Amino acid sequence: MRLADKVAIVTGGAKGIGRGIATTLAGEGCRVVIADIDADTAGQTVSEIEAAGGLAEFQATDVRVPADIERTVERTVAAHGRLDVMVNNAGWHPPATSIDETSLELFESQLTLNLTSTYLGSKFAVPHLRRTKGNIINTASLAGVVGQTLAAAYAASKAGQVGFTKALAVELAPQGVRVNCICPAGVDTPLLWEWANTLDDPAAAAQTVDALHPLGRMARAEEIGRAALFLASEDASFVTGHALVVDGGATLDYSPAQYAAE
Ligand code: NAD
Repeated sequence: MRLADKVAIVTGGAKGIGRGIATTLAGEGCRVVIADIDADTAGQTVSEIEAAGGLAEFQATDVRVPADIERTVERTVAAHGRLDVMVNNAGWHPPATSIDETSLELFESQLTLNLTSTYLGSKFAVPHLRRTKGNIINTASLAGVVGQTLAAAYAASKAGQVGFTKALAVELAPQGVRVNCICPAGVDTPLLWEWANTLDDPAAAAQTVDALHPLGRMARAEEIGRAALFLASEDASFVTGHALVVDGGATLDYSPAQYAAE
């Protein structure tokens, strides 16, 4: 019960990585507010957490709408008296798009959903996190650390989250508020299957993603949840401004594949 009596907001917590984070934090005694646009799926996640003995609730929140995030933060603090962890996780990866096909609308919508939401969630949470000496966790991506082909808009938004994390961590460190981000590689979520299902052979596409990771598979959402638990807890009391790569070794191997096979 490493987070007993703590309160966290997880944006995009209804499914995928956010669900993995929400259930993991709740499993350690944290009250979790799932801030999402998908009420039905969020309701299922809340029920699952409660069935396991945890504390969770849903707040309808579109992270593209500043007033929504502000309302969710303020309602959470009004109801529970505190906020300890703000997880800015909601985001979306568009289908593969060349620079020629990347419209200004797509580029700006990626920044709004993936990056501006991180700024907004942080901005509204910080006054409350100062009081609890709490922390912020942003779900960025490996695409924000290394390149990703046909995903320039996405990678820009994710690299923006990494830069935002580091700058805000320096600013808030003297106030006792830590700010970190997680950079996953492939994670088995509805978003990943949304992409795979656009291809002729979704199962083969998923196997190709598995093979990108030396550990031989993509991550489970709960494995990202455990990384978030570390960052959220006192175990990470001296960790701030860190971009925690959770990639099954995907960025490690520089050997040409033919030599590895010999
Ligand atoms: P997902 O689509 O499976 O789940 C996303 C969740 O966010 C859903 O519950 C959805 O309803 C919610 N959401 C979407 N738009 C929203 C909005 N405007 N306001 C509030 N909630 C909204 O996606 P995922 O794979 O779990 O991805 C979560 C985060 O992890 C994203 O930021 C994504 O970029 C990042 N990420 C994913 C992977 C991966 O392989 N799945 C890898 C690296 C990073």
